[in-house]
This record gives sequence, structure tokens and C-alpha cells, in this order.
Amino acid sequence: MKQKIHPEYQQVTVTCACGNSFHTRSTMCKDIRVEICSACHPFYTGKQKFVDTAGRVEKFQRKYGGEYFKRTKK
Ligand SMILES: [Zn+2]
Repeated sequence: MKQKIHPEYQQVTVTCACGNSFHTRSTMCKDIRVEICSACHPFYTGKQKFVDTAGRVEKFQRKYGGEYFKRTKK
């Protein structure tokens, strides 16, 4: 049997855009930054999330020149 073919799980710190951070285990072996976590996700908070979703959609539209939305819209 070969040794060390399985990735080692390491504890990493996940830091969210809302400021919340928590520990998880990952093979990435480095800290992770996320924009949504269980503390600020509207599914868990039941509140409107503060992150600029509209701005991100605009960014996406600029990047793809609106083609994605034209294609998916009927
Ligand atoms: Zn969060």
C-alpha cells in the first residue's frame, strides 16, 4: 500500500466577510475567507443580509457583458 496518498486534514480558520470566524478541517491547509457563513446567511438569520448582492450581480454582468442574462431570460 502506498503511503501519503491521502491528503492530510488540517484545522483551518474560516473567516467570513461579516467578521465571524470559525474553525473547520480542510485539506487546503490554509485559512479560508468566505462571504457567507452560518452566522450571516439569511437562511439562518432570517434577516436581510448586509452583503452587496446587487453590486455583485452588476460585477458579474459587466464581466460577461450581460450575455449570461440574455441567454437565460425568456
Ligand atoms: Zn458571515
